Parts: sequence; structure tokens; C-alpha cells
Amino acid sequence: MKSPVVVSDGKRRIKLAKIDPEDAGGYGSKESALEHLDKLRAKLARLQEALYAEHRQSLLIVLQAMDTGGKDGVVKTIFTGVNPTGVQVTSFKAPSSEERDHDYLWRIHRAAPAKGVIGIWNRSHYEDVLVVRVHELVKKEVWKPRYRQINEFERHLAENGTTIIKFFLHISKDEQKRRLQDRLDDPEKLWKFNLGDLTERKLWGEYQEAYEDAINACSTPLAPWHIVPADRNWVRNLSIMQTVVETLERMSPRYPKSDVKPASIVIR
Ligand code: AMP
Ligand code: MG
Repeated sequence: MKSPVVVSDGKRRIKLAKIDPEDAGGYGSKESALEHLDKLRAKLARLQEALYAEHRQSLLIVLQAMDTGGKDGVVKTIFTGVNPTGVQVTSFKAPSSEERDHDYLWRIHRAAPAKGVIGIWNRSHYEDVLVVRVHELVKKEVWKPRYRQINEFERHLAENGTTIIKFFLHISKDEQKRRLQDRLDDPEKLWKFNLGDLTERKLWGEYQEAYEDAINACSTPLAPWHIVPADRNWVRNLSIMQTVVETLERMSPRYPKSDVKPASIVIR
């Protein structure tokens, strides 16, 4: 099934306004997509067991989106049915005073997944060229070189055994409005509503521009950005699951060889 994900190769400039957040690619109906998702989930579980047993490489999944973009939903989808021992979720909030006393990549590098582990970052070092840029938390001469620094950091991780996939969950401004309203209307979602999200919403255009620049400056063969049409949850979930499974298949984790010769062993 052809997924609607747009992969940025860093050579041709991606324009977010040209990518339809409602695109469903060749996924067809929601029903068939959900069936397909179940099959992929079973594959993911097997691949993850092998990755963990192999203990040589790791997978890092970076999630970025505007508020209500669905990052939490993706974490839930990807990790339903995998072995919790081999996965690690890190959510990056505004840095603490200790974190601010170090360079911006300090807390990020500490959260990098260990060998055998799948790490998911809910927000990431990209906040340091997104919220930080939009709100001018540091001067341009400080954030501008970060694109290069980020590429170097990601290359470092990649060359040391970490496969990186970065997802931008692309929603429309109208869809965000619906989702924010939904949080206000549903008592079980109200806890997610944050007045600050309305301030950020006013900066929608600035954020889209900052995202576009980050995606275009930091798409490398070793760490490509994937733009995921995310107005429909099922499309978003299936797209990401498919990309993750295909990536793990390419990593082709192998169970380690053992010196034990089972036939020579008798258990009494
Ligand atoms: P949430 O994901 O809804 O829990 O919100 C986390 C908040 O932390 C968001 O408003 C982010 O913009 C903010 N945040 C994350 N990383 C940074 C950073 N490096 N600098 C400033 N704010 C950040
Ligand atoms: Mg939030």
C-alpha cells in the first residue's frame, strides 16, 4: 500500500503548504487500513525482539508537530504490542535550569537509545530551532548554526549504530482548531488543554516557516525528515507504522549466535 508520506531528501526544497494534510495516499478505506495496521504491528513486535536480542544497533524515532498534531497518539500506536523492556519514550519540555546551564544537545544526547532499544522522542533538539526561533529566546546568530550542529550530531549518532527517522506530523490550522475545541468539550481531554497553545496558534505562520527551514536544512541521507499528512489519525498511524517497520526490516536485526550446542546438552 502506497503511503502518503513525503520523504525530504535535502536536495529539493519541501514546501509544507504544497502537502495536503488530508492526503491518504493509496491507503483506501479506514477499515482496510486498520487491518493492515494490525499485521504491521505483529511484524514490529518480531523485529523489536530481534533488535533487542541482537544488541548491536538502535532505532531513534523523532516526533515533531504543532500542538494537537498527534505525537502522543503515535507513541501509543507504535508501542502497543511491543516489549516494554526494549523501548524508551522521552518527552522534552522547556529545559530546566540545570539543562539550560549546558549546551542544548546535552540533555538530548543523554536520551539517545542504548543498543537494542527503540527510542521515541516526543519533541526533540528541533525545539531549539523551532520554539526558540519563533519566540526569539536566543539571537539568530545562536540558532542559525544549530542546523549544521544538528546535522553533525545526527551523523555522529548514525555512525555509531543509531538509525534515525524523523517525523513531522502535518496538520492543518482548521484541524488544530477542531482538536483544541474537542479538548475543551471532552472532560477526559480537558487536562490536555493549555492556554499557552492559543498563543502558539497565533504564531502558526511563523512555526510553519521554522518547520520548513528545519526540515529543509536537516534532511540528510542518514537522518531524513518524513512529512506525514496527519489530519486523519488512521492515516497518520498507518503511515508511521509502515515507515518504522520498513526501516527495521532494512536494519535486519539478527539473533546473536550462541556457542551452546543444544544437542550436546542434557538437562537432568
Ligand atoms: P507539551 O509537549 O504539550 O507537554 O509541551 C512541552 C512544551 O515544552 C512545549 O511548549 C515546547 O515548546 C516546550 N519546549 C520543549 N523543548 C523546548 C526548548 N528546548 N526550549 C523551549 N521550550 C521547549
Ligand atoms: Mg501540549
